[in-house]
Amino acid sequence: MSFLILKNRLVKKILINIIEFSAKNEKRIKNVEYVRGLYRYPKKMLGRKLPTKNLNDKTDVLVFAAHPDDDVLGLGTTLYRHSLKNDSTRVVFVTNGSGRDGESWNIRFRESKRKTITRYQEALNALSLINIPDTNIYCLGYPDGGTQRYVKNMAADILKLIQELNPRRIYVHCIEGGHIDHDLTSFVVKSVCYSIGYSNIFEWTEYNPEQPLGAHKVKFLPTYINKSKTVTIEISEKERELKRQMLACHESQDVEQFYLQGEAIRKAKTSQVEKEVFEYCQIPETKLKTIINEIREVLVEIPSKVKAV
Ligand SMILES: [Zn+2]
Repeated sequence: MSFLILKNRLVKKILINIIEFSAKNEKRIKNVEYVRGLYRYPKKMLGRKLPTKNLNDKTDVLVFAAHPDDDVLGLGTTLYRHSLKNDSTRVVFVTNGSGRDGESWNIRFRESKRKTITRYQEALNALSLINIPDTNIYCLGYPDGGTQRYVKNMAADILKLIQELNPRRIYVHCIEGGHIDHDLTSFVVKSVCYSIGYSNIFEWTEYNPEQPLGAHKVKFLPTYINKSKTVTIEISEKERELKRQMLACHESQDVEQFYLQGEAIRKAKTSQVEKEVFEYCQIPETKLKTIINEIREVLVEIPSKVKAV
């Protein structure tokens, strides 16, 4: 056996050990989150706010954003234009945004809670500038930077929301390897949509390995999977100023500086979502396989009668 083969095997073994260690680590973190009472699905999720009062009101637009501020960075002007048409828009934040300067499981409960409240309030302030009322803004309460530990629960929540709110159109992140929470939000929402035959779903690009946050001319990554036409939003000076004001509301994130960020959307291709996630998501392949199987388990349980939304 040559030295090179031995060396390759050794590298492979070390890589597998690292992946296995991180998988065990995720389980350990999830246990810590449970024991500390931060995340106990479904009753105790930090920052969770679900629709209660106006469930029967129409929903023209339903947005699934991973963090409070992604909605503005990726879609601020697009949502403003919906508001001009009097479209009723609801925004769902999948995580509570408690991740900056240490993940929620690793910092004091009080500190995590404080961050969560701040992020939600900042989102309310920003969206009020385009007339989206507080009653239309929700948070599923998953840990910022920790969606990979809760994909099954996320799928159940997202399915329920789509069925309850019956939206005319959905917006979600595209899968582009910029942030794991963005990619998994996209993956879960598109998987759910595919399984229930919901097709009026659009995705936005935000940042990825080839496109920094704040890019003026945003572009989707080159792809052989989704051939849908990209619609680039031409943002006027007045709309740009509004976007800047909305971003300024997210004071804790210091994102006002990214107000030049452009906007581009395209129709999502829900049938190819597993291919997309393998192609672009930064999670190691073995871990992704586990996540995909978890989602499949949830979606296979959907009774056929609810499949046609
Ligand atoms: Zn984000």
